[in-house]
Amino acid sequence: AAPMLAIRDLRVSFPTDDGVVYAVNGMDLTLARGETVGIVGESGSGKTVTSQALMGLLKDTTAEVTGQILLDGQDLNTLTETQMRAYRGKKIAMIFQDPLSAMHPFYPVGAQIAEAYRVHNDVSKKAAAQVAVDMLGRVGIPDPKRRYAAYPHEFSGGMRQRAMIAMALVCEPELLIADEPTTALDVTVQAQILDLLNELQDETGTSVILVTHDLGVVAEVCHQVVVMYGGECVEQATVANLFKEPRHPYTQGLLASMPSLAQRSGRLNPIPGFPPSLLALPDGCLFADRCPKAHLVPDDACGTRRPTLTGLDGHPSRCHLETLQPTGEVAR
Ligand code: SF4
Repeated sequence: AAPMLAIRDLRVSFPTDDGVVYAVNGMDLTLARGETVGIVGESGSGKTVTSQALMGLLKDTTAEVTGQILLDGQDLNTLTETQMRAYRGKKIAMIFQDPLSAMHPFYPVGAQIAEAYRVHNDVSKKAAAQVAVDMLGRVGIPDPKRRYAAYPHEFSGGMRQRAMIAMALVCEPELLIADEPTTALDVTVQAQILDLLNELQDETGTSVILVTHDLGVVAEVCHQVVVMYGGECVEQATVANLFKEPRHPYTQGLLASMPSLAQRSGRLNPIPGFPPSLLALPDGCLFADRCPKAHLVPDDACGTRRPTLTGLDGHPSRCHLETLQPTGEVAR
């Protein structure tokens, strides 16, 4: 079956006072219905800009967005801002790290959820209010009828995040983008919110893109994972394969720097060095000056030629080592 979402060679750049910033430089992702894919990367890896592009939030801005974002075969990148409005909230919804930024401070939470429903459904205010109360109940907010009238600041952080999930899912979107949804919460509440997302996904069949810097979160809830570095997708795999057999040297470094895994091997190894400047991308591999394996590739290919994403059994990696021939040559 055709994938529900297919991103092909997505690129995003925008002008700044310092020059053009190349924020996303080749993002590929395939997502089946009902699946969860994690997008992992450090800050500046392009993961948040990727989700903004998916939501169409870069339309009518100075950003240049190229490539395809195929949702059920429709390329969202070709839609105008007006056309995109019919999709946003109804087919694709988003939740953020900070629910307060997405909610109006002066309106009751329930009324905001009801309004989000009425944007895409022609129903009375009363009917929408009932939908909102039901939704608050479904996300585990106790006494939803009474909490309907509460204001965002009257909710705890965890409850606010639940309310934002209710607002995002009220129109039963096909795709939910969750950008660091649990980063601001304490560990117990984090686990509750991730469980809730899993539960609702089982009920509704919504596909989820979970944007995070935390591989532990990915291990817990995702089926697939895409690792981003310097605005490029450097590896995509099932979660099981990524943890068992990481192919890209950057992913290998990330795994070695995870506290829980490193405790088992007895070492915590943060990757030395810094991500590349997105203002002046080098010709070679974007990871070259931090990569402990660059010396294994002959002819300084790492420093002079950008590797492509090379697929092996549905587990592609963007590294010259993937194409190294037995003779030591890099395939051209
Ligand atoms: Fe390292 Fe070279 Fe592979 Fe880049 S292409 S990840 S520098 S080995």
